[in-house]
Amino acid sequence: MNTSELIELEKRYGADIYHPLDVVIERASGAWMYDIEGRKYLDFLSAYSALNQGHCHPVIFQALWEQAQKVTLTSRAFRNDQLPLLYKELHDLTGFEMVLPMNSGTEAVETALKAARKWGHCVKKIPPNHAEIIVCGNNFHGRTLSVIGFSSDAQYRRGFGPFSAGFKQIPFGDAEALRAAISPNTCAFLVEPIQGEAGIIIPPKGYLHEVATICKQRDVLLIVDEIQSGLGRTGKLFAYMHENIAPDVVIVGKALSGGYYPVSAVLSSREVLGVFTPGDHGSTFGGNPLACAVARAALRVLVEEKLAERSAKLGAYALHRLQKMKGPNLVEVRGRGLWIGIELSSPARGYCQALQERGVLCKETHSTVIRLAPPLVIERSDLEWGLEQIESVVGES
Ligand SMILES: *Cc1c(COP(=O)(O)O)cnc(C)c1O
Repeated sequence: MNTSELIELEKRYGADIYHPLDVVIERASGAWMYDIEGRKYLDFLSAYSALNQGHCHPVIFQALWEQAQKVTLTSRAFRNDQLPLLYKELHDLTGFEMVLPMNSGTEAVETALKAARKWGHCVKKIPPNHAEIIVCGNNFHGRTLSVIGFSSDAQYRRGFGPFSAGFKQIPFGDAEALRAAISPNTCAFLVEPIQGEAGIIIPPKGYLHEVATICKQRDVLLIVDEIQSGLGRTGKLFAYMHENIAPDVVIVGKALSGGYYPVSAVLSSREVLGVFTPGDHGSTFGGNPLACAVARAALRVLVEEKLAERSAKLGAYALHRLQKMKGPNLVEVRGRGLWIGIELSSPARGYCQALQERGVLCKETHSTVIRLAPPLVIERSDLEWGLEQIESVVGES
């Protein structure tokens, strides 16, 4: 089948929830993707940062292949020999005492919210069913009902109510607003250290440090959603590390599996994750041996190939270069590590299509921002070539 036939099938039989670029990929390797007509594209999106280790990384593939021949799913009704090792390796890498594995990012967010509420009721002694969670405007934490219920994006919510109670929204980047919003019933503050979907929005310097202090003073759990910002994307293992804080809960997903498989997890202390007892929570596929073997390999690649350092180095170069760009509709270029937002004064979609024609794939977010998030394994020469295409399309020529 050709490109237009495949697109036609997709439109006829699939629910229309995305607005993809009309490129049909059939294979990929490292930072490159190939469409069914044999054209080659540099991936500047990395599946929203799920492919930090690059497409089809051979080490992760080997782990997947080997595990797929042994056992893939036991359910948590029985134990498997991969889950304890993933726990230990995540602990060793991040320092958190306990891990709770899930599949999608949103599920891990839901899990963290459940843990925070139960902690609020059982440990902080908030009256039953009164736990409140504070979130930020322009947040993105996924698409389940409770999560969209506290979104500030009208389209995410429209038509999907009624929503869960117990969430309060404050502006992102405003620590004083957090101080004012906390009540005796507040159990947690949920925040992205850098807002990805909102357009790579970096909070004022010192913000995370200040909210961490406020949360500590008021006995409120600080939950950091690192699903997109984590695992090397911003030039450190986690984005919160740029401000040297110690969050109570960290949510990871996306690159935890290097793009092979949905794997997510909540990392926290024994005090928080210890509130769960058998029967409180669960997932048929969560913690399955195939997922754990893949995640273990994905973490190994991240460490052995020093992908966080690579992101810091290549990201600094790319940001410096793009910030020198001048263009008629260019408002701002901002970023941290290999995660860069180009904000325009006009819709970004046409620019993404022009880049597609030149062989670079990226995607607009919030209509006027081009988000750049290449795989962290990208070769410097490939990155340079991709940046040249961006300069040609966005910059003055
Ligand atoms: C992608 C993302 C999620 C949701 O993850 P899914 O795997 O799509 O469910 C949650 N939070 C952030 C910050 C994300 O980027």
